[in-house]
Amino acid sequence: MSDSENTKSAVSLLDRVRIVLVNTSDCRNIGSAARAMKTMGLSQLVLVDPIEMPNGQAQALAAGATDVLSNAKVVSTLSEAIEDCGLVIGTSARSRTLPWPMLEPRGCGEKMITEASEYPVALVFGRESSGLTNDELQLCHFHVQIPANPDYSSLNLAMAVQTLSYEVRTSYLLSLDEDKQEHSTGNGTYIGKNSLGKKTFNAKSEDNELYPVTEESERFYQHFDNALKATGFIGDKHPGLVMTKLRRLFNRARPDVKEIKMMRGILASIERASMKGHQ
Ligand code: SAH
Repeated sequence: MSDSENTKSAVSLLDRVRIVLVNTSDCRNIGSAARAMKTMGLSQLVLVDPIEMPNGQAQALAAGATDVLSNAKVVSTLSEAIEDCGLVIGTSARSRTLPWPMLEPRGCGEKMITEASEYPVALVFGRESSGLTNDELQLCHFHVQIPANPDYSSLNLAMAVQTLSYEVRTSYLLSLDEDKQEHSTGNGTYIGKNSLGKKTFNAKSEDNELYPVTEESERFYQHFDNALKATGFIGDKHPGLVMTKLRRLFNRARPDVKEIKMMRGILASIERASMKGHQ
């Protein structure tokens, strides 16, 4: 590790990048993913309901990264794994029926490092057999697809972890360079630059407000769902795709915490008005 890499603030950026593996069936892939992570300086591994818990075979494949493996947190749902994260990016080997805001691997790395200055960020990987479900993908702000051979685009799980972790590391190293060049004040508002040095991302909104973490945005979506059911816009029996499309709309707009608060105030006023209407 270089001197600058050893500085506390810089190291904590990588410590706030979480790799989440959902429902992995072969624990050897978990071991290989741990190794891939450690080579790129990542250590936060979360396993959502693994089918096979890491055993000796997983340890053998983790090689020098058994610490990452033994420190892995095991949880039962994806929501639990990401509730405190302000940015969640889901990975997908193929295009889905409902298109979602997409990032290139490079952009994914930049965004993760930019926003890791504010809160934990997560990169979510799916099952070997079937990837992530639509419900799981809808919990993500963005999707990232490694632009592989269109005729054979599905990478081995651990290799996908390696490829995207490398992009995270590349952005992280760029952020260290910038810290040196710009004598960063360490105020946590690192602006991302793409490979051409053009500034791309900001970790906060235009009003300099934070973005909500998953737990807060899920409460907002729940409130929205309740309000739309109260007004009758969404039928109890046939909810359709309304909430999915609203999630996509709000993901695209990326409301900050103040805007979410305002939206919840609006929803509460609609609920009150619809109660009065029913009296
Ligand atoms: N057959 C599955 C692919 C699973 S591969 C499907 O059709 O979805 C296992 C996991 O590796 C995926 O869920 C994803 O997290 C990751 N992965 C594999 N190839 C990828 C690619 N080209 N881009 C992004 N992630 C990929």
